[in-house]
Amino acid sequence: MNNFLLLGLPVLFYIIFVYKLFEFQILKGDDFRKKALDNHFYKIKVKPARGNIYDRNGKIVAGNLTSVKTFIISKDEDIVNEYKSYIASLNGYYLDIIDYDEFTTIGARRELLENLVFIPITNRVYPYKDLTPHLVGYVNSDGAGVDGFEKVFEDSLKGEEGEIIIPVDAKMNIVNKDKIVYNFPKKGKDYTLTIDMELHKFIDSLVQNYEKSAVVVMRTNGEILALYSKPKYNPQIFSRGLTLAEWNYINDKELAPLMNRTISGLYPPGSIAKILTTLIAIENGWNWKNSMPCNGYIIYGGRVFKDWTPHYYISDIKEALEVSCNVYYYNLGRFLRVSRITNYLKKLSIFYKKFTFLPQEKISFVPDSSWYMQNYRFIPGGAALNLAIGQGELVLTPIAIAMLTGAIANNGKMPYPKLYFGQIIKDTFKLPFSDSAIQITKSAMLQVVKGPRGTGGYINWKLWEYGFNINVAGKTGSSENPHNKKTHSLFTLFAPYENPQFIITVVVETAGHGSDVAVPIALEVLRWCLLHYYYPQ
Ligand SMILES: [Zn+2]
Repeated sequence: MNNFLLLGLPVLFYIIFVYKLFEFQILKGDDFRKKALDNHFYKIKVKPARGNIYDRNGKIVAGNLTSVKTFIISKDEDIVNEYKSYIASLNGYYLDIIDYDEFTTIGARRELLENLVFIPITNRVYPYKDLTPHLVGYVNSDGAGVDGFEKVFEDSLKGEEGEIIIPVDAKMNIVNKDKIVYNFPKKGKDYTLTIDMELHKFIDSLVQNYEKSAVVVMRTNGEILALYSKPKYNPQIFSRGLTLAEWNYINDKELAPLMNRTISGLYPPGSIAKILTTLIAIENGWNWKNSMPCNGYIIYGGRVFKDWTPHYYISDIKEALEVSCNVYYYNLGRFLRVSRITNYLKKLSIFYKKFTFLPQEKISFVPDSSWYMQNYRFIPGGAALNLAIGQGELVLTPIAIAMLTGAIANNGKMPYPKLYFGQIIKDTFKLPFSDSAIQITKSAMLQVVKGPRGTGGYINWKLWEYGFNINVAGKTGSSENPHNKKTHSLFTLFAPYENPQFIITVVVETAGHGSDVAVPIALEVLRWCLLHYYYPQ
């Protein structure tokens, strides 16, 4: 029964459809006669089907739409069988719809069709339309990969072209059916992504009220579960030709829908940078137990550096991270000073590397002293203070923030992201800090969610309400956006704290504070992960 549905029924439909074409092209077609007639052989090139791209649960993210263009008469069982196995290799392909009237008309002449062999011509199709993750990319009207996975794996995805060689006479009659040469095409290689499309759909519903966002979900073993970027686009439009409205949308510089924000969005990390500042300060001898008053601002070099609220008293660096106190971190910037800034920045050069093989990826930018010398001719006095709280020249991609979070979750190292099954990952992203600096920072991130004044506290009580007894660690961020009044809202987390399994990084552009927007989104994504992928230990 299964075989019939998968193969039998489509084949029957094909036969009907093919006969129509046969009639048109060979019995009546003038066009056919004009086509390349090479030494009494008529040659038909047969385009191969591209390899399918599946999500981790076997759902087709990029597949093939099949229609019939070429067909051959054959009595040879071997050829028919070879053809059938090629059809079977296209598993999950789609069919054009055939009219019921055609079915009955042709049905009466079935005996004529017994020896037909026909070749499907395939076109790329993206069943999820505009929900297709950016990392998949798209193909152009010639069927060649232009971006993302489709581009990187073009050589193995595209398959091998086939050819049918038919001996014909001057009038284009087939001279000898038994001498027809059939070289069937070979379908390209299939790939299975680590992505979960149901999770992508779910994230899409969470950010529906926002225009631009990026969400990275990965496991601590490096497997990417989601690489969600908005605005979205439908990759299908490029293989069929764009309408004017689509052209305008795709080329809108402000929206930049083709941009994969998870790997090429460069964002000032805002207070998420305080994770780095904590590590660097402890590494440079700052006593993490140091307390500090907070009046809501400090004056440095004749300039006022503001906090977002007075915190009155901060008992140690962990509490400074918990409440995200700018004053404490300005003072860490002062402590690190220009003299230590070179060392500080050199350590962050771990970000000067791409995390994936995707063509769009940009590397994060961490200004070093030579950059300041080139642009300012000196290192500005406030540079260390601004860097310490994540405002200014430092910009990170969401995937870089996720990798930083994962490295802390994993006690200092994080495997590079894995995007498809079979991908070999040799490299590990290693934080250049001592274990004690990492452990203090790690427990400070727990306090952000669990502490009495923590900016991520919403997650803690909401998870409890949902019935999960799980500890989460993370950090909020709100980064100033020079073009708009509203800030970008950021949050990054890992969970569970004791045996980390998930890393979730959320960036919502021009949405407000991290704790207001990105935190509730990250919480729902975490809940989804716990329901679908959590294994209590
Ligand atoms: Zn403060």
